[in-house]
Amino acid sequence: MAPERAGFWTEIPQLTRAIARAMGVTFRNLLRRPITVRYPTVKRVYPDRFRGILALTYDGETGEENCIGCRLCEYICPPQVIKVEMLKAEKRNYAKTFTLELYSCEFCELCVQVCPTDAIIMLKSFDLATADRRELLLDKDRLHALGLQFEPSWATGNRLRDMQAPPKAAKAAAPAAAADRRAPEPAAEAAPPAPSSPDRRAPEASEGAPTANPE
Ligand code: SF4
Ligand code: SF4
Repeated sequence: MAPERAGFWTEIPQLTRAIARAMGVTFRNLLRRPITVRYPTVKRVYPDRFRGILALTYDGETGEENCIGCRLCEYICPPQVIKVEMLKAEKRNYAKTFTLELYSCEFCELCVQVCPTDAIIMLKSFDLATADRRELLLDKDRLHALGLQFEPSWATGNRLRDMQAPPKAAKAAAPAAAADRRAPEPAAEAAPPAPSSPDRRAPEASEGAPTANPE
């Protein structure tokens, strides 16, 4: 028998086992419900922290724009895709212009985290597919319109900062602990002066010693 034919016959058990395994997977999944959905007719329920496209918000009570044009989001954005111009006004400031190049966005959420007025948020949607990049250069009006169109994600700047802050009990205990650390050591006050030392003042903290952080 030629060596090639011998190789074929010796591999038959291996092939049979591979086919049986594959068919086993097929039969096991034959009666299962499909895990795919017919998007966009059917949409999945996204998790609360879904980080989708970005939007600007209005104040729910006054209807005013929440953005005060502070530019914090512009400074924090790693790929620098946000550009804001501030418009100063008597009572509060506004964003004169606000542009976001969504095609270069990393969806890192840093802009949302730093926003002091919850003006920029992420949405539970990624539904801006287009073949024209210019449509992904979002201006202020478009960002506001998106905010009204899609469901917002849970995260806002204030919520994220609250989440990252120490628990309330730890916050309350921190000033007391800091005050304790600043108080002079009772042992140092009570200690008798050394006979050879003419200076009876309590020793001062050395310049290089770490100071208590009141925060
Ligand atoms: S999500 Fe990140 S990359 Fe996108 S605009 Fe915000 S800070 Fe910039
Ligand atoms: S979106 Fe928020 S962080 Fe950005 S400019 Fe407006 S107020 Fe400032």
